[in-house]
Amino acid sequence: MNLRVEDITKRYGNQFALKNISLELKSGEIVGLLGPNGAGKSTLMKILTGFIEPTSGAVYFRDLLLSENLSTFQQQTGYLPEHNPLYTEMYVREYLQFHATIHQIAKNEVEAVIVKVGLIPEVHKKIHQLSKGYRQRVGLAAAILHNPSILILDEPTTGLDPNQIEEIRQLILALGKDRIVLFSSHILQEVEAICDRVIILHKGNLLDDLLLNQMRSSEKQLIEVEFDLRVEEQFLRSIPNLIKVENVYDATWELTFNTQEDMRPLLFDFAQQNGLRALKIIPKNKNLAVLFKELTAN
Ligand code: ADP
Ligand code: MG
Repeated sequence: MNLRVEDITKRYGNQFALKNISLELKSGEIVGLLGPNGAGKSTLMKILTGFIEPTSGAVYFRDLLLSENLSTFQQQTGYLPEHNPLYTEMYVREYLQFHATIHQIAKNEVEAVIVKVGLIPEVHKKIHQLSKGYRQRVGLAAAILHNPSILILDEPTTGLDPNQIEEIRQLILALGKDRIVLFSSHILQEVEAICDRVIILHKGNLLDDLLLNQMRSSEKQLIEVEFDLRVEEQFLRSIPNLIKVENVYDATWELTFNTQEDMRPLLFDFAQQNGLRALKIIPKNKNLAVLFKELTAN
């Protein structure tokens, strides 16, 4: 099962909200859509849920064109909008039963979802009496009532306190096991905490598509070193933990080590013991924080 975005552009007047975005989302994967405010996250999510149409480009679900299969598609999609519109005068159960009726879902399903999202203690209240965290749960409950295969959550943790954030995270993790989940945030730590993959949007451009697991499990350490003299590659091979050597130019090398131990002091000693001077020793590893900062710097 996959959701495929092909070369989507969205323009509001002269302003581009999205520029030539292509990507594919797969089942069982929690994908983070990360980007500063105004990046185009909500616009992309509205296009993916069929709420607005792109200026150009197409969305496919199971190889069917979204624009030609809108109602079928929306039956399989759960959407928690950024400013979750709730009927605040309704009671929690009443609101969810109202949603169930729209989707032609049996009432006992509502009870199961109330349990699932942890709404039991607040179920007797009116929505306006709920805290922001519980309102988000009502929104999530409404989004998953019809057991959709795609779940689109627009900044579900914004405005919540740390405990509520953790609870919503756990909920999303549990929900993400067997469906497509796209989750947006302007906060890096949010995305890092629960996503398998992160897509970075900036000014309507898709900047990077990263597999967080690969980044997390990467034990490698990259260091750029410049010596005062040219040396042979063979000579560098005797440095401990070294797994890759690349000549950048002249006496500048990029060295890859398979250790987390900081290799900079060892490199310094190595140079000294061999009659060389290290003119610079620069760590080149990029974690997500560094990358996000670099990518969104201008
Ligand atoms: P994000 O969700 O990442 O904060 P949005 O998708 O809401 O970003 O917005 C992306 C850009 O498109 C912004 O510059 C925003 O002002 C603009 N935009 C969004 N919706 C509209 C609209 N309905 N009309 C005009 N401009 C819009
Ligand atoms: Mg938004």
